[in-house]
Amino acid sequence: MHFPFQNSYSALPDSFFARVAPTPVAAPRLIKLNRPLAVQLGLDPDLLETPEGAAILAGKTVPAGADPIAMAYAGHQFGQFVPQLGDGRAILLGEVIDSDGIRRDIQLKGSGPTPFSRRGDGRAALGPVLREYIVSEAMHALGIPTTRSLAAVVTGEHVIRETALPGAVLTRVASSHIRVGTFQFFAVRRDTEAIRRLADHVIARHYPELVGAERPYHALLAGVVARQADLVARWLLVGFIHGVMNTDNSSISGETIDYGPCAFMDAYNPSQVFSSIDEMGRYAYANQPRIALWNLTRLAECLLPLFSDEQEKAVAEAQDILGAFSDQFSAAYQAGLRRKVGLFTERDGDDALIQDLLDAMAKNQADFTLTFRKLGDAAVDDSADARAQFMEPATFDEWAGRWRARIALEPQGATERQVAMHAVNPMFIPRNHRVEAVIQAAVNDDNYAPFEELVKVLAEPFEDQPHYAAYADPPLPDQRVLRTFCGT
Ligand code: AMP
Ligand code: MG
Repeated sequence: MHFPFQNSYSALPDSFFARVAPTPVAAPRLIKLNRPLAVQLGLDPDLLETPEGAAILAGKTVPAGADPIAMAYAGHQFGQFVPQLGDGRAILLGEVIDSDGIRRDIQLKGSGPTPFSRRGDGRAALGPVLREYIVSEAMHALGIPTTRSLAAVVTGEHVIRETALPGAVLTRVASSHIRVGTFQFFAVRRDTEAIRRLADHVIARHYPELVGAERPYHALLAGVVARQADLVARWLLVGFIHGVMNTDNSSISGETIDYGPCAFMDAYNPSQVFSSIDEMGRYAYANQPRIALWNLTRLAECLLPLFSDEQEKAVAEAQDILGAFSDQFSAAYQAGLRRKVGLFTERDGDDALIQDLLDAMAKNQADFTLTFRKLGDAAVDDSADARAQFMEPATFDEWAGRWRARIALEPQGATERQVAMHAVNPMFIPRNHRVEAVIQAAVNDDNYAPFEELVKVLAEPFEDQPHYAAYADPPLPDQRVLRTFCGT
């Protein structure tokens, strides 16, 4: 079994990581291999499906060329700074260059303790592993930058949480696992040389167009600001709630990372929170842009020593760069909303028209996903399915009248509009009740058929897939999931 590793992070100074091998497990069994992703990474999917492959994906054997490390990082967790976190239950095997020429980390999550485990066991339970597999791959299919899932294995061992649960390992693929918290780890240690090394590594890897720029570190901050603004706009446009936007869960490459108690909302509610540990609603749906900017401000603080020796000058420059976030986010979000309601052009009053729809959706507990999807059908047909999402359909009718008058000002035909709307408004999202049902079947009955089917449906979220129409349905009242857990 050959992995074409070309490791770069483990060549950085020793303070960046701890060398540590995965801890072997009793009886690894492959639950799921993402075959197309394996091919993209230059790996042989048939070999990965052999017992030898499963042993590697479970951390039982370390493949040749791997240089296993746990990465060091710090982070603000719910606003509280923790100077040392680090990979407590994840081990980076190494990096490969994929078929697009992009360097990708291959990381095992749940593969045993590391020097950063603190009081944790270094393990992962099957439920959270399946949740991350499902949601990260769904995000990818929705076109949202994200870490990917290459494989899930059960370990044949139990992990002790509130009860004994089957243990599992997720193989996670990322364009890197460098976080805002990685910079914070060195900033709190006042190790400016390490910050510079890390920044240079990040620029070469994620922002190569900035190599040789006049002010590369300023440009780096601007680049991360732009990618995070775009990312959070994309989250909002599909109803995604990350749930734990701590600075250690905030990726420098602009990918969605560290799926814990994340969830997609069913009924539109800007203050929606699912995570059981988010008691104050810090990471509620509509707070996410504000929190992203807060996290970026923490990143900027780390970079100040690279900006200028004069503190005041550095701060002013950082503030200037951070100031772009708000407009960048709003532009991406409003443009996305215009696409969602089928507007090809921009006119005065559009933002208000769209906001009125969102307000009506919130008041009427309209399903976020289905309202927009069915609005696409309303472009060619009557509005029956769209208005059915509203508790008081008359509210929708009033709005729809204004919407029809607005779209009539554009030359595009009805079918063209429907096609464009369906290309941005998914039919299928990983609904919480579906994810829960899949996890229950796997954990309680060792039945992975529901998992397979859900993953398959979510791979084509913009297709109608009439055979799987039930997967588009919101939960019935007794199926509603009110809380999600990180399960660590
Ligand atoms: P997370 O909630 O997954 O973002 O993790 C936050 C921090 O806790 C990271 O430093 C993790 O490595 C660590 N952590 C989470 N679960 C465990 C565990 N079971 N064993 C050791 N460390 C863990
Ligand atoms: Mg994390």
